[in-house]
Order: sequence, then C-alpha cells, then structure tokens
Amino acid sequence: MYDLAIIGSGTAGLTSAIYSARADLSTVVFVGENFGGQIATTNDVENYPGFDDGITGPELTERMRKQAVRFGAELQMDTITGLDTNGPPFTLTGRSGEYQARSVIVATGASPKLLGVPGELDLWGRGVSYCATCDGAFFRDEHIAVVGGGDSALQEALFLARFGSKISIIHRRDQLRAGAYLTNRAMDNDKIEFVWDTVVEAINGENSVESLRIKNVKTGQASDLAVGGIFVYVGHQPNSEIFKGKLDMDDEGYLIADRRTHSNIDGIFIAGEAQDNYFRQAITTAGEGCKAAMEAEKFVARLDFQETAEPVVAETSALG
Ligand code: NAP
Repeated sequence: MYDLAIIGSGTAGLTSAIYSARADLSTVVFVGENFGGQIATTNDVENYPGFDDGITGPELTERMRKQAVRFGAELQMDTITGLDTNGPPFTLTGRSGEYQARSVIVATGASPKLLGVPGELDLWGRGVSYCATCDGAFFRDEHIAVVGGGDSALQEALFLARFGSKISIIHRRDQLRAGAYLTNRAMDNDKIEFVWDTVVEAINGENSVESLRIKNVKTGQASDLAVGGIFVYVGHQPNSEIFKGKLDMDDEGYLIADRRTHSNIDGIFIAGEAQDNYFRQAITTAGEGCKAAMEAEKFVARLDFQETAEPVVAETSALG
C-alpha cells in the first residue's frame, strides 16, 4: 500500500514525486510507455527557468528522476490500464500487476495527434515520425517535411535543420500559430522553407517515405513533394481513455480539475497536460505537479488522523 501513486512520468508526474517523497509519503511513479513524457522528446528546452544556456529534454527529465529517487520515490516500469475510483484505498491495475494507494495523481499527459492520411501508419518508423529528437539524425542530408504551424513544428524544424539538407514546413494556412521568437528564427534559417495553405493528403513509399501527396487548399492544385522523412506536429490529445466514466472530462477528453488539482473523486488529483489544453508548458505542468502533491499530502494526513484518532464518544444526558 502506497500513500501516493502517480500515473505518468512526465514533468508533472516527476515533480509530484519530488514533492511527495520529500514530504515523506511512500510514493510510486508508474512510468508508462514513454519515460519522461513529451519533454523527453524535445531536444532544446530554452525556457525552463534556471537553465540559462538551455537544457535538453532528456537531461532535464533525468535530473528530475534523480531528484525524485533521492527523496525515496519508487519508479515502477509498468503501464496503468485501469483505476478503481472506489476508495481510498484505490486499486490500480497495471500490465504487470495490481497496486493499492491511499491517494492518486493522474499525470498521464497527452500524445501527438496523427494526420490520419493514407501511408501514415504503414510508414510510421520508416520515415514518418513524431519525435525529431529521437529520429532526426536518421535524415542527415535529406529533404525533410514538417507538418504544422505551431511552436512544436517550428522548434522541431529548427532542430531538424541541423541534419537535413532542406526542411519544408507544410502549414494548412498562411499564418503561423507559433510565437514570434520561433517564427523569426525559422524565417531566418536558410534551410527552412514554408509551404503555405497546404495539406498532406497521402504519404507514399515502398519501404520508407519517398514522397508526399500535397494539395494547396486555396487553388485546389495537388502535387508530389519528394522527401525522405515527415515529422508531424499537429497538436495533441489527452491520455485519458482509461478514466472514461470515472473521472470528469470535457468533450475533447481533457480531465477536469479544480484550481487545487482535485478531480471529482476525493483523493484523486490531476496535473499536467491531461487537464490542460491551453498552456501546455513544462513549467506550468511542473507547477501543477507540485500543487497536486501538496494536496495529496494533506489528504493522506487527514486519512492518518482519521485512522489514529480516538473515537469520540458522544456525551449522553443522564436523563437519556
Ligand atoms: P498547436 O499550438 O495546437 O499547433 C498545432 C498546429 O497544427 C497548428 O498550426 C494547426 O493549424 C496545425 N494542425 C492541427 N491539425 C491539423 C491537421 N489535421 N492538418 C494539418 N495541420 C493541422 O500545437 P503545438 O505546436 O504542439 O503546441 C502545443 C503547445 O505547446 C502550445 O501552447 C505551444 O505554445 C507549446 N509549445 C511551446 C514551445 C516553446 O515555447 N518553445 C515549444 C513547443 C510547444 P492551425 O494553426 O490552422 O490551427
């Protein structure tokens, strides 16, 4: 029986673990399929406070992991597939076993959205990627496509420009969603070109990506673009499937937490991108992880008090 089970090992989950383990709660972090979550797939993290020269996502994650472990948090290499919300204690079902915890923090984050076009799934891992940090180096001196017009697309295009001979950012509009800083840097990069008002209709190739079928949405004109790889950054979807019908969520599947990270179930807290479709920053997610751990700590202290307090005998009148 753990005091606190944290589902997810991204920035929110690891920050929760640092705070709760340091507060002496027996803490387990269920790592899930991708240790470190989204930040671990980002190469250059330039806006996390305290790292004036920037830091890589994998290194930031590793430092957070070490910090949590130093205070006694346990990392379980299991993926949680079910949560019984009738508690406390709560029962968590994983691929490798069942676990019990007196409180739970859901920090399951979000996953990249797919384009949903022919060829995407067939060529996934053979030229189709959602992680430039993981796969960028495979495309040295190749023409690479990046899809999307947000901060992720531009940040990762800049990273890919270190390897590729040319980077084509394909965006469905003629205005970027990304902020000015990344926009200016991408515009100034000689290797990067923008393909405006254009969508990808199909990804083609025998054994690996060879070309994209693209269409200009204003003119309706379709053409083929020869590329060796395509990196997709068209937003995210929350990892909340297993909580359907148990924890409150909105129409898009984002979990609903109050300003103190409480879910609709007493003792279950929510932090990070699983409940945030607006800020989605490593630092905001870390802040939520901290808040959730502080609330879990209070919840567990209340349970301790209830379990150890002398039963109060009601005073009865001599007259009955
Ligand atoms: P995002 O801001 O939601 O941008 C997604 C982009 O994909 C948009 O340009 C969108 O086009 C496009 N898109 C969506 N669906 C599409 C489809 N089916 N086909 C083609 N294009 C599609 O997502 P994000 O870039 O991953 O950023 C997420 C959050 O993380 C943001 O808050 C961002 O500021 C933050 N972030 C910050 C940094 C940083 O500060 N360094 C780095 C990365 C991410 P439209 O514009 O037309 O909607």
